[in-house]
Amino acid sequence: MTRMSARKRIALVAHDAMKPAIVAWARRNSEILSRHDLYGTGTTGGRIAEGTGLDVTRLKSGPLGGDQQLGAMIADDKLDVLIFFTDPLTAMPHDVDVKALTRIATLEQVVMACNAATADFIVASDMLDDDYTPVAEEAAHDR
Ligand code: PGA
Repeated sequence: MTRMSARKRIALVAHDAMKPAIVAWARRNSEILSRHDLYGTGTTGGRIAEGTGLDVTRLKSGPLGGDQQLGAMIADDKLDVLIFFTDPLTAMPHDVDVKALTRIATLEQVVMACNAATADFIVASDMLDDDYTPVAEEAAHDR
C-alpha cells in the first residue's frame, strides 16, 4: 500500500461495446489526463491515443492477457487508478480475468471506476492532483 504521488498512474480499459464511451470520456477530460501517466489495454489504449492525441502506454489486449498485466502492475504497486468501463450486458470469454483485476484493485486500494459517472467524480476530485496515502486501519484486513 504505497503512497500515491501527485502524478498518478492511470489505466484505461473498456469492453468492446463501451469503447466509444471511454474515448468520448477521455476526450472530454484530456487536459486533466495529460498531467498523469496513462496505460491502456491494447485496443482501448490505441483508440484513446488516436481519438485524443494522449500518450498511452499500451499493454496486451484484454482477452490476450492485458487485464492480467494490469493486475500484475497493481500487485507491484505500479498503478494508482483504474478506469474500467465494463459491459454489464455481455458475457465475456475473459470474465475471470476481469474479476481478478477488479479484486486485486479492491484489495490494494486502487481508485477504481467501472462507469463514466464514477470516472467523472474521480477526475473532478482535488485529490487526483495531490499525494495520497490510504488510512492504514481502513485499508487493513483482519488476516
Ligand atoms: P482491449 O481489452 O482494450 O484490448 O479490447 C479490454 C478488455 O476487453 O478487457
